[in-house]
Amino acid sequence: RSNKAKNFLPQDVTASNKNVIINHLYLPPVSYSQWEEISVMDERNTPMRTYQVCNVMEANQNNWLRTRHISREEAQRVHIEIKFTLRDCNSLPGVPGTCKETFNMYYYESNNANLWFIKESQYIKIDTIAADESFTQVDVGDRVMKLNTEVRTINNLSKKGFYLAFQDLGACIALVSVRVFYKKCPLTVLNLAQFPDTITGGETALVEVHGVCVNASEEFEPPKMYCSADGGWLVPIGRCVCKPGFEENKDMCQPCRPGTYKASATDAYCTKCPPHSSSPQEQATECICEKGFYRAENDPRSMACTRPPSAPENPISTVNETCVTLEWAPPRDTGGRGDIIYNLNCTKCSGDGKKCTKCGSNVHFVPRNFGLSSTTVLVTDLEPDSNYSFTIESENGVSALSPTPKGKVVINVTTSQTGENIKDSVTLAWQGPERPNGVIVEYEVIYYEKNQREQNYTVLKTRSNMMTVEGLKPGTTYVFRVRARTDGGYGSYGGEIELETSHEGTVKHGIIDFMFTYRESDISVFPPAVLSHFVQLICFFFISFPPTKFPCVKLPGSRTYIHPHTYEDPNQAVRDFAKEIDASNIRIERVIGAGEFGEVCSGRLRMQGKREIYVAIKSLKAGYSDKQRRDFLSEASIMGQFDHANIIRLEGVVTRCKPVMIITEFMENGSLDTFLKKHDGQFTVIQLVGMLRGIASGMKYLSDMSYVHRDLAARNILVNSNLVCKVSDFGLSRVLEDDPEAAYTTRVRHTLTGGKIPIRWTAPEAIAYRKFTSASDVWSYGIVMWEVISYGERPYWEMSNQDVIKAIDEGYRLPAPMDCPVVLHQLMLDCWEKGRSDRPKFAQIVTILDKLIRNPASLRELANSSVWEDPSTPEFSVNTVDEWLDAIKMGHYKENFSSAGYVSLDSILYIMSLAGHQKKILSSVQSLQTQGTHVQV
Ligand code: AMP
Repeated sequence: RSNKAKNFLPQDVTASNKNVIINHLYLPPVSYSQWEEISVMDERNTPMRTYQVCNVMEANQNNWLRTRHISREEAQRVHIEIKFTLRDCNSLPGVPGTCKETFNMYYYESNNANLWFIKESQYIKIDTIAADESFTQVDVGDRVMKLNTEVRTINNLSKKGFYLAFQDLGACIALVSVRVFYKKCPLTVLNLAQFPDTITGGETALVEVHGVCVNASEEFEPPKMYCSADGGWLVPIGRCVCKPGFEENKDMCQPCRPGTYKASATDAYCTKCPPHSSSPQEQATECICEKGFYRAENDPRSMACTRPPSAPENPISTVNETCVTLEWAPPRDTGGRGDIIYNLNCTKCSGDGKKCTKCGSNVHFVPRNFGLSSTTVLVTDLEPDSNYSFTIESENGVSALSPTPKGKVVINVTTSQTGENIKDSVTLAWQGPERPNGVIVEYEVIYYEKNQREQNYTVLKTRSNMMTVEGLKPGTTYVFRVRARTDGGYGSYGGEIELETSHEGTVKHGIIDFMFTYRESDISVFPPAVLSHFVQLICFFFISFPPTKFPCVKLPGSRTYIHPHTYEDPNQAVRDFAKEIDASNIRIERVIGAGEFGEVCSGRLRMQGKREIYVAIKSLKAGYSDKQRRDFLSEASIMGQFDHANIIRLEGVVTRCKPVMIITEFMENGSLDTFLKKHDGQFTVIQLVGMLRGIASGMKYLSDMSYVHRDLAARNILVNSNLVCKVSDFGLSRVLEDDPEAAYTTRVRHTLTGGKIPIRWTAPEAIAYRKFTSASDVWSYGIVMWEVISYGERPYWEMSNQDVIKAIDEGYRLPAPMDCPVVLHQLMLDCWEKGRSDRPKFAQIVTILDKLIRNPASLRELANSSVWEDPSTPEFSVNTVDEWLDAIKMGHYKENFSSAGYVSLDSILYIMSLAGHQKKILSSVQSLQTQGTHVQV
């Protein structure tokens, strides 16, 4: 019957699944028993070929219709769509009860494409097929035949192909078409990676497909997607980026045009060449400097090309016997750089000025003669009645690259004879604040005789940062103070220094350097409005008497944190920074917690002459090793260096008897995370901001002291009875062992230091390559903000650490918690900038929070108000990711989302679903649109 088979032309059917019907396999039947090939008319009067069987009047029917071998190509999962009509048994007059209204579909898998006989028992049943609609009468005039469409799937095919068979057991059937097809995820380009046409997998598997970077791009993170069973792409991960010299444009990388460049693959776009450079060719990875301009080795490619500075200007000398003060103005042309330094060469010349020799090492320069950043130098210990010639040379970061000689000026001076009855004088020199709050207008120096207190003082003013105070009495102790005036007014006095002038004949000569720091008063919630004129000064006090050795006095209050490991003897660090307390002064009352090394108790401390105070007492459990004792006490050596209202205060240590104890101030409300969970929803937003302000202020203090915390989290903040929050947990081993949140990262396992990291709180660069800085503390601070505003919710909910790392990498950031003011969420997002230099500094955070506290109206607009707060918000539906982002006021993230590959709402739902199911999450992420916004997915 093979000639008949050739005539079998299945009717074309419209695909029900728009995307992915790829392949039609036509069906050539090779045998049919009682089945007959018959032509009929369809409802549009087009002839159609059918296979029919209708032996309803006879019992024991078993009629098989079988196909030829059908190749599965590479598909493991194949779909069979059949169209057929079926006659209703009741409508056939006089048929016996054996009449059926179903038939069976089978398959037989085989590598052999030429089997002419397959035993019925070898077939595997796919399904029994019943009609959704049977028809009752054949009325060709009205065409009431009802066409049924059924689709069945065969999974996990492995041989070359298969045979299909239809078994009739006594029904009245017309088979109109059989279409066999499989699905593919179509070729696509996403995140600059091309994913090939991919055949969907078997029953369970998503097929993992690795993308290939498009031309002129390279892998940033291996691009990967999953081809789902229904032919859709899911969960894009990773991306390619255009190579240096190329930029992205519509899924391709195009060369940078002349005049532009792209230095790094991770830069998004080509940018215009910076000033004094050009790129004549396409594809530039950097621009070439114009003649006479240079780029220093460490200059970023984005920086303008620069040149060496011109000579210093207007040199002035002031001779005071054998001392000379040299001052000059910066060069007119800085060459476009800010890194100008000056070098001073000193030569002593003969009377006629013809023969000059280099000054000897007995001449002293304050602050020094090479690499000066200021434009003043004090030169002392010159010989009297002599001629000197000073050359002041300017240079900057590109001077070494330029063949032209450095700009210089020469100034000649003649020293005088040392006088007999000259009174003592003191020359003070100081360095201006590193980051002044405005332009410094002048410095004010006041001094008075110590024994006269401040009753009789002298005020002197200067614009430069040095001054000689003359006419001082010998053998007298003076107190000197310096403060700066900016456009905003006077700052506080940097501190003070006492100096005793010599009795005649006593030889005294000193340089004393110290730093003044501003000390904030105990501000927890409402700060004073004056952080502005804080001046940090380094003073060099210099007494002009004939020199001997320079005694170097380090005054207390040097504000840099000293790591206990820098001590050879760690016990010395404890002695230096922690006060020893006699155990008899301590009364332990009750256990309040468990620390890494032992119990934490509360109790009282009574010190002689002081009132009794409540304290927390951490003790080191018995049986400790030497290392444990050191690690335990390291927390005290660190804490003891701090003195700030928002840092937990160390009262002292007990080390002379056992158990070894650390005594700190008592914080009645315990740790912040537990405290917030206990008081969910009970504080005003201003109170929450006040707490955050306190934490930021404490962190500013730590960062000013160059201390990096590494484990800033609500669980490590303690709260006292006035809601003052204080940063705690300073032990050296804490990040490694103590914190249950700390986990090893899979990317890098840091074996050197134990290397466990509290992933959810830690900045990506700290996770990836252990770059812990104050900027990574700022990231953690952003997470603490989120914890505080959400009353102790767990950051990223139940997502796994690995998913958190991946999501952060791809640009996902925690959404605003419920009732979170927009400004606060924005500040969190700023703290979570990928580039650590783009994050705010703690000083800026404090300033921002201060402003918010002073202007509570700024906190009124809530991040999620359009959905939660305002009942008049119309309901609306969104169809695209962009519309969704607009709807939840995250429109500015469109690019981040699309570049991270979240192009369909399904992918959004997927990532949201990682977030878990708590009620609060739903609310905080605008309920994933199930509440207010209806997403049609
Ligand atoms: P730590 O070993 O520092 O993590 O302390 C363990 C627990 O003891 C903390 O979570 C607090 O609940 C409690 N705790 C520690 N220090 C204090 C303190 N100064 N005041 C009140 N509770 C404290």
